[in-house]
Amino acid sequence: SDDRIISSMAFKEDEDQTLRPQRLQDYVGQKDIKEMLDVYIKAALMRNEALDHILFYGPPGLGKTTLAQIVANEMDVNIKVTSGPAIERQGDLAAILTSLEPGDVLFIDEIHRLPRVVEEVLYSAMEDYVIDIVIGKDGQSRSIRIDLPPFTLVGATTRFGDLSAPLRDRFGVVMRLEYYKNEELADIIRRTSIVYKTEIEANAVLELSKRSRGTPRISNRLFRRVRDFAQIIGDGVITKDITNLALDKLGIAPSGLDYTDKRYLSAIVEKFGGGPVGLESIAATIGEEVTTVEDVYEPFLLQEGYIKRTARGRVAMKKTYDLLGIKYFKGLFE
Ligand code: ADP
Repeated sequence: SDDRIISSMAFKEDEDQTLRPQRLQDYVGQKDIKEMLDVYIKAALMRNEALDHILFYGPPGLGKTTLAQIVANEMDVNIKVTSGPAIERQGDLAAILTSLEPGDVLFIDEIHRLPRVVEEVLYSAMEDYVIDIVIGKDGQSRSIRIDLPPFTLVGATTRFGDLSAPLRDRFGVVMRLEYYKNEELADIIRRTSIVYKTEIEANAVLELSKRSRGTPRISNRLFRRVRDFAQIIGDGVITKDITNLALDKLGIAPSGLDYTDKRYLSAIVEKFGGGPVGLESIAATIGEEVTTVEDVYEPFLLQEGYIKRTARGRVAMKKTYDLLGIKYFKGLFE
């Protein structure tokens, strides 16, 4: 079920382009990444060269796709957007690559899901701007070499560890996106309220940012839902009361955790005695995919100190016991 607020999938309404910052200076947060990109972009522009290949990684909804578009805007080139699973055959990739203009950005989302045979074509494309494609079948097959214009590959992934070493090594720039601070999310929410021409009270902004799980995509989703409530039960202005009411109805706790986070934490404590317990066991218990749990739920729970990872599995921390209202006996089971 992907009608949830916290979801690895982008909804149709998430593609609302008006919410995406178009320039580096409008992109909130990720200070280090912005500073470095700014230098690399200016240097490439001065040299009149294509920008080096860039890999962005981190949990969904933190702004990887947005950054790819910003890179293209700042370089003043076109961007072609595709994803790992969408490129099934070598020919698919060849078609995309040969359609690029010099300097263009090719954005491949979920690049860890590229089929192996396709990935292998990408190596020479990235390194030397050439591809060798086998055409024809059986006895008559032959390889042809195609020259490509210099281009910039921007890859995005939630699973850095799933990238093969040869692919990883061909990115000149590898950047990890962090969860956003509440003040940064507040900036994004204020920006969204301007774009949507919807007034929001200052303390409602704070409440929304606290409940966004460090993720701009979630801020924007929550904003849209709360705006609906404000329109129907209020006079259109997003107040703190309406925000709290709407978020409670949506099952978003003050901590920002949702039902699945809660089920995850309860499972560790109540079914597995607080851990250590393996990821697979937790995922099976709560009926979620292992990759979803690992990519979408755990990074935030780890960062916020609800759980820790040990060699023997996941362990619930005191914060989890406090959240669940269960007494914590430190070290009793360790
Ligand atoms: P990802 O590709 O990492 O899953 P996206 O780039 O699609 O994430 O970002 C999701 C949405 O969040 C975007 O449409 C944009 O509206 C918003 N967003 C992400 N990062 C920022 C940011 N730094 N500043 C403002 N808005 C952002």
